Amino acid sequence: MAAGKTSLEAKSPYELRVNLGRDMPESDVRSALASGDMGFLHSFTTGSTVDGPGVRVVAWTTGCMYRCLYCHNPDTWTMSNGIPVTVAKATEQLRKYRQGLKVMSGGFTLSGGEALMQDRFAVKLFAAARRMGIHTALDTNGYLGDRLSDEELETIDLVLLDIKTWDPERHKKLTGMDPGPTLAFARRLAAANRPIWLRFVLVPGLTDDPEDISKIAGFGAGLGNVQRVDVLPFHQMRRYKWEKLKLNYQLGQTEAPPPRVVDRTIGIFRAAGLTAY
Ligand code: SF4
Repeated sequence: MAAGKTSLEAKSPYELRVNLGRDMPESDVRSALASGDMGFLHSFTTGSTVDGPGVRVVAWTTGCMYRCLYCHNPDTWTMSNGIPVTVAKATEQLRKYRQGLKVMSGGFTLSGGEALMQDRFAVKLFAAARRMGIHTALDTNGYLGDRLSDEELETIDLVLLDIKTWDPERHKKLTGMDPGPTLAFARRLAAANRPIWLRFVLVPGLTDDPEDISKIAGFGAGLGNVQRVDVLPFHQMRRYKWEKLKLNYQLGQTEAPPPRVVDRTIGIFRAAGLTAY
């Protein structure tokens, strides 16, 4: 599929998209990333009510340093799967929704993949959204949070921070990476009094250990800036992406968590004093 034939807008981020930026020379990719004048996007979607307050326009970036076993969008792992988009073009896209977003008390969310793999592009997009008076949210695993200066953090109204699991060994097995930088970013956001919504994906056999969840809940409650927690039950709806991409999907036999486990998990966060759904 050629990039020129693929619309930046998608019905949902769950459309499988590959190789849309593959023709861009490596040196151009590097300079685009360094300047932030161009980024790589899987798509823009509209109408989300789960990626921040109100109704959201979401830009889905490509590129991620994690390899979560339960990832719903493994086609966003590779940056070159995304469409190369100038910051001007992305801003223009956002401008179309400006009035509607205001009416619906919504805003703009940058998600991924991991949006901070393209931190300069993210910073420019947030600044542009701010200039249009649009509420901004960053959906991130937090690993690269230290790429943002304190001043840049000020342009982000809300951080949707994914905490995958507490135990470092388990975290490494689940994502391939260490949880330390994410926790450090959370503490930094707390010190700067920037609001966080915590996101926690509940996967039977992987992240459903109540003791582990209690530690995340205690950490979140201790921060003082966590406005809410969203418990996201695992599902199998994106399994087809793993299969199409010929990736080794290890969760083929894993079922969605039963309602009582979802309720128990929400209960653990609430018992720590957090607002959880
Ligand atoms: S951080 Fe998100 S995009 Fe990256 S692998 Fe994990 S679930 Fe997928």
